[in-house]
Amino acid sequence: MYGWTGKFLRVNLSRNKAAAEQYDASIAENYLGGRGFAVKILWDELKPKTDALSPDNKLVFAAGPLTGWPLPSSGKLVVAAKSPLTGGYGDGNVGSYVAVQMRKAGYDAIIIEGKAEKPTALLVRDKTVDFLDGKDLWGLDTFTAEKRLRDLYGSSSGILLIGQGGEHLVTFANLVCQGGRAGGRPGIGAVMGSKNLKAVVVVGSGELPAAYPKEMKELGAESYREVLTKPAYAFWKQQGTMMTIEWSQENSVLPTYNYSEGVFEEAEAIGGFAMEKIKVSNRGCPQCNMTCGNVVRDSNRKDSELDYENVTMLGSNIGLGNLKQVAALNRVADEYGLDTISLGNVLGFAMEASEKGLIKEKVPWGSFKPTKDLVEDIAFRRGLGHLLAEGVRSVAEKVGRGSEKWAMHVKGLEISAYDCHTTPGMALAYSTSSIGAHHKDAWVISWEVKTDRKSYGAEKVDKVIELQRIRAGVFESLTVCRLPWVEVGFELEWYPKFLHASTGLDMNWDMLNFAADRIFNLTRAFWIREYGKDWSNEMDVPPARWFEEPTTEGPLKGSKLDRAKYDSMLQTYYKHRGWDERGIPTKETLKKLGLDDAIGQLNKRVKLSD
Ligand code: SF4
Repeated sequence: MYGWTGKFLRVNLSRNKAAAEQYDASIAENYLGGRGFAVKILWDELKPKTDALSPDNKLVFAAGPLTGWPLPSSGKLVVAAKSPLTGGYGDGNVGSYVAVQMRKAGYDAIIIEGKAEKPTALLVRDKTVDFLDGKDLWGLDTFTAEKRLRDLYGSSSGILLIGQGGEHLVTFANLVCQGGRAGGRPGIGAVMGSKNLKAVVVVGSGELPAAYPKEMKELGAESYREVLTKPAYAFWKQQGTMMTIEWSQENSVLPTYNYSEGVFEEAEAIGGFAMEKIKVSNRGCPQCNMTCGNVVRDSNRKDSELDYENVTMLGSNIGLGNLKQVAALNRVADEYGLDTISLGNVLGFAMEASEKGLIKEKVPWGSFKPTKDLVEDIAFRRGLGHLLAEGVRSVAEKVGRGSEKWAMHVKGLEISAYDCHTTPGMALAYSTSSIGAHHKDAWVISWEVKTDRKSYGAEKVDKVIELQRIRAGVFESLTVCRLPWVEVGFELEWYPKFLHASTGLDMNWDMLNFAADRIFNLTRAFWIREYGKDWSNEMDVPPARWFEEPTTEGPLKGSKLDRAKYDSMLQTYYKHRGWDERGIPTKETLKKLGLDDAIGQLNKRVKLSD
């Protein structure tokens, strides 16, 4: 086998044991890497209904056959586990030197199981694995803990760690690396915390395996040059994803006041051009020449890395129009290791609940100090923070009194930063995403507003599926960043060429899309196996707010989604996916994709359609 190292490293924290294991070449070809590996491992190895915060859950770090090679955006890592936030499959991707170092150490994935007796840091140096005492790191924020480890193991070592949020099992705690790059929003940090694992350090010194290493290097150099020639590149370097704030405002999709509106009166103050005035540098993931992290100095004079999602969720969605204060909230979220999307979402919920008198605490819209204090309370699970730490679905169940209508999540994962009162296609993309309401699987909204944004038609459904194949299946599994393609137009044709040089395999996009469908359907099967009889297609429907409460501001005021049309669009989606009217893959679909094992397991729980 070329391209893949052919090895997983399995670590058992309960027994302080670690061993490399060879996996079958068919796994590599059928599941590619990254998300594909993660879902296959979790499907095969987790018992249904495993408690996500128990030692029985498994934490998977997985990379792909391009990871580590010098080519655009190949420094990503998928971090995955059963999610304590959603109860389903959970993952995130993070640009991290762990991805590069893990592959150089000879592993395509690390599987971490069990629970350490006491706080621990894992040190992987090629074939050697050490279980380090983590007591002096426990309780530290991610920046401080990372610096200590970096001083010990060097600037190019791969380090992933949790903050106090993960230690206190906040259900949307994430993993952080390199001073504020973060991933794993469905509580992967809480899973790591539940295992008493504060940090993972990886240092590798081997050569990456490739069928045609010379061609791989040449393609890499050529493709970096290609990215630089793209007309959109210069502005991208200036603003990165921050340019999207103006776009969202213009198109009435900027989440505002807990997704009740799509425009924000202070959008300009938190937008890309405002950011440029306080920007101090660019930062990026390993191997990337698009470096989209905008580092600014926040209101506490600390560095904070801004992008569209964190500024929107901690800005317009909570009514805060002061960018330096938004940056300060983002910085503390990164220090504590809290996902900024879910955080902005639960804060928006708390502000609305406070305004409506449903909770006794006062959390005014747009406030800074009370909000910053509340973020700390979430990380340490104090007072109202303890309730919010469970995620918005769970909070609404406790608060009740109709608040579930504006608890903005799908399948328990808080919605990311697009309001969908006027974009049914994006609502469908959120609702059918692999991990709950996240934009990374299918960012259909930019296409949708350019075409017929009011349509609920089959063409839109097919676009969502097309994007899910490319992004959720292929990119997440090759474990490369989608942004070179999405944002500067780096062509899709490059990826089969990279894959050929790395693995020697000739896989065109049709073959890659077929693998993507296999991965997507296995992910769906994972959810259905977990939810069993509680599964219903209501789980693929966005919150009632978007159907029942029209917007009151902006050029599209008065807009809302149509529930009957949405339901019909969802059924079309199911049909095109080869799923039944409940949204469950049919036997025929699973068979076609080689998922025979899923047929047996699901049939016991939900009785599959033929
Ligand atoms: S484009 Fe941004 S997110 Fe993607 S790899 Fe580059 S720096 Fe990372």
